[in-house]
Amino acid sequence: MRKYDVLIIGAGIAGLYAAMNLPRSKKVLVICKDVPWECNTFYAQGGMVTALDKDDIPLHIQDTIEAGAFHNNREAVEILSRTSLETTADIIAKGMEFDRDEEGRLLYTKEAAHSVGRIVHAGGDATGRYMHYFMMVQNKHELQRNTLVYDLLIENGRCYGVKATVNYRPSTIYADDVIIASGGVGSLYQYNTNSRTVSADIHGICVKKGIELADMEMMQFHPTVFVKTPYARKLLLTEALRGEGAHIVNEKGERFLFGYDERGELAGRDIVSRAIFNYKRQYKNEEVYLDFSMFDEARFHQRFPNITRTFASLGYRFPQQRVPISPAFHYAIGGIRSDMNGCIDGIEGLYVIGEAASTGVHGANRLASNSLLEGVVFAKRAVDFIMGKEQNTRQIPLFDEDYGNILHKDNDAAYKDRLRQVMWENVGIIRTKNGLHEAKNMIYDMKSKQIGRLLRLRLNTASAIVDAALRRKISLGTHYIEN
Ligand SMILES: Cc1cc2nc3c(=O)[nH]c(=O)nc-3n(C[C@H](O)[C@H](O)[C@H](O)COP(=O)(O)OP(=O)(O)OC[C@H]3O[C@@H](n4cnc5c(N)ncnc54)[C@H](O)[C@@H]3O)c2cc1C
Repeated sequence: MRKYDVLIIGAGIAGLYAAMNLPRSKKVLVICKDVPWECNTFYAQGGMVTALDKDDIPLHIQDTIEAGAFHNNREAVEILSRTSLETTADIIAKGMEFDRDEEGRLLYTKEAAHSVGRIVHAGGDATGRYMHYFMMVQNKHELQRNTLVYDLLIENGRCYGVKATVNYRPSTIYADDVIIASGGVGSLYQYNTNSRTVSADIHGICVKKGIELADMEMMQFHPTVFVKTPYARKLLLTEALRGEGAHIVNEKGERFLFGYDERGELAGRDIVSRAIFNYKRQYKNEEVYLDFSMFDEARFHQRFPNITRTFASLGYRFPQQRVPISPAFHYAIGGIRSDMNGCIDGIEGLYVIGEAASTGVHGANRLASNSLLEGVVFAKRAVDFIMGKEQNTRQIPLFDEDYGNILHKDNDAAYKDRLRQVMWENVGIIRTKNGLHEAKNMIYDMKSKQIGRLLRLRLNTASAIVDAALRRKISLGTHYIEN
């Protein structure tokens, strides 16, 4: 029998920082679905927010709450901002190299809706890749790839471990404490910037088990994404580009955003996303571009090497050439409801951190680059809680559910595509009551088909998003509903 003290589901920033903080004396296993770098953390570009100093904390809190449309849990925001001083210092002390100027001072950038530059970055625009590599090296516990969780073993209000396929074979892993760090829900949407591993399976298990999800209607769309690629993951053009002066223009080169919001490119992401969506709708899909031709070429290449390289391979020469953009799904604000220590109400031994969690920290809209910070801050708190609590080992019950097919080879692909299309068209940037009801019916219908368990889990999560959107009758933050 495989039994651990702590099992961590997910090897992104939240899972790895939790692992980094668990002592060697604990028997810990970190698992991930695919290769470890297939996660949203790896693809993060712009950077990680950190309060600059004690004096900046009130302003960071204010910016986060204003971006969140005052729907935030204030306690969570205060914890996030206050703890950032400690966690950023810890990461740097352990050897993480953020970008610095020639005198060795940390470089801070500014993104939309921040009052000041307070975002640290690494490798120019490759912050996620650098932080992920750093944490992979720092993690001293066992890490197992190709391990896909398809059930949480819960009985009488206690979690005992998981059922997972390990290299495609069903397997059981037991643990005293299980930390969910499985990220968001990107694969539910036709156009999304997320890693293919981020597909809402664990949220779907929670729906089935009656574990509460919160704020699921709050899904953030990023305005500047290159969607003209055949791959599921669409290419993000970091918000830092707009923060540092790039323009959003129409075919004629006009900056049309000022017709929607006086802040133009620097308005919040939901406002810019909706403006582009509406503009395209009004002008029959006229192309919209991100234009950075005003940037100095050498500086652009040094500041945004990742984007320069990726788009060069697609035939673009930056910064001279503008690039067509569209909004796309980006970040799940809602998630599995947790308290300030990652605990899930009513289930002993089960925790949730990172993008999978909903602490209420982001309110109705996430302030740019607060999520890498959320990953580290709440991972640390969950670990502190686990290390501080009384250990309470119990006899493991027998778990012998028959799950049927995990995948249904013939049917899943087509229904998965249909779901992604329905979510994009009916549960996307602009929603209507009729469109949401149509989505609800389609999802209900798909659940009655011959499909595999993983798709069923995705459908559970999709239902939770649609139901939450139907419950919220007025627009708030990222949830925008017409009529
Ligand atoms: C393109 C892009 C750019 C971004 N830029 C920024 C930025 O500049 N700043 C910022 O703060 N945020 C940014 N974000 C958001 C941020 O990257 C994420 O919110 C954050 O990295 C999430 O970390 P996480 O550890 O919660 O999850 P992830 O990093 O997504 O990791 C999820 C892990 O869970 C595993 N997993 C999932 N399901 C299962 C399962 N069923 N069984 C086993 N394992 C499973 C996956 O394999 C993976 O290891 C960006 C996101 C994207 C997509």
